[in-house]
Amino acid sequence: MAEARAMKRVLVTGAGGFIGHHLVSCLVGKGHWVRGVDIKSPEYEGTKAHEFELLDLRRWENCLRATQGVEEVYNLAANMGGIGFIESHKAEIMHDNVLINMHMLEAARLNGAKRYFYTSSACVYPGYLQHSADVTALKEEDAYPADPEDGYGWEKLFSERQCRHYYEDYGLETRVVRFHNIYGPLGTYDGGREKSPAAICRKVALAEDGGEIEVWGDGLQTRSYCFIGDCVEGIDRLMRSGHREPLNLGSDRLVTINELVDLVAAVAGKRIRRGHNLTAPQGVRGRNSDNGRLREVLKWEPGTPLEDGLRQTYEWIHDQLARAGRIRPRALVGR
Ligand code: NAD
Repeated sequence: MAEARAMKRVLVTGAGGFIGHHLVSCLVGKGHWVRGVDIKSPEYEGTKAHEFELLDLRRWENCLRATQGVEEVYNLAANMGGIGFIESHKAEIMHDNVLINMHMLEAARLNGAKRYFYTSSACVYPGYLQHSADVTALKEEDAYPADPEDGYGWEKLFSERQCRHYYEDYGLETRVVRFHNIYGPLGTYDGGREKSPAAICRKVALAEDGGEIEVWGDGLQTRSYCFIGDCVEGIDRLMRSGHREPLNLGSDRLVTINELVDLVAAVAGKRIRRGHNLTAPQGVRGRNSDNGRLREVLKWEPGTPLEDGLRQTYEWIHDQLARAGRIRPRALVGR
């Protein structure tokens, strides 16, 4: 009986994208009825959503349509990509994401949604706290005084505030997560929007044993990486919690990009040399997640070891490249 009561009709936007697609599978697995919405279908496998609609959520009437008849909204749709993309498409990103987020909040409210989940980013944290590779992990309250990533980060911070005001002024229960570098299988790995773990897996998969890959920057910049399985578990836990303030969701294991390359090379069983491109975009010098509040609020934290997550990601990207005829299938390697 308790389980039947927990089942809900929910909307996931960005359901054709990396995290949204995994979230749909997770929520369907938990017994919810799920409507997925995106401007495109999932690229790598079919959706498990009960209903999937192709809609452009920059348009108000489409947001009204998407939010009809659902109790909860997980709004993941965003125009985004890795550092190369977000540093060179600021106007387009702010334009699209402000429209999506403002329309989605208002449409969810008008259609009577009870809960609303917003996916913010570690890009809201101020540049002045991230000048050193040996960075102090970022706590939620560090977001102010504000100096976020230009373009993408400013929009995230603005939309976080709007979620807060929708609770204060209208009583809409909003939950806000700040993701720190989510990675895993079924994520974009090519084409310019991919993030560093996927890009490095692709480059290593395409390289010969003993070959060289291009690394953006001197490779001494630091980040933490959170596996997709932990990410969707954290989303579910935060949505069910009573916590209305933004919350970090990431790993707190700090690695340099050079270390990340070496970990992927080890998974691939290849000797890889790093060729540093010092003119490529690099983002902040160092960034890590302080998980103190995450542990306190959710009584949980991401636990997948980076080595395990990278193995799964590398194997999936390797298989994709083999299927596209760009490398030999894994079973044939070394024959
Ligand atoms: P993604 O690009 O794979 O997914 C975003 C989806 O939004 C895409 O499928 C895209 O088609 C869709 N979308 C874009 N414009 C749209 C529109 N006008 N109408 C409908 N759909 C539209 O990215 P992701 O990694 O799955 O990210 C999901 C959310 O998490 C985003 O809000 C992103 O900003 C946030 N986030 C992700 C990370 C990360 O490391 N992946 C880090 C911080 C924040």
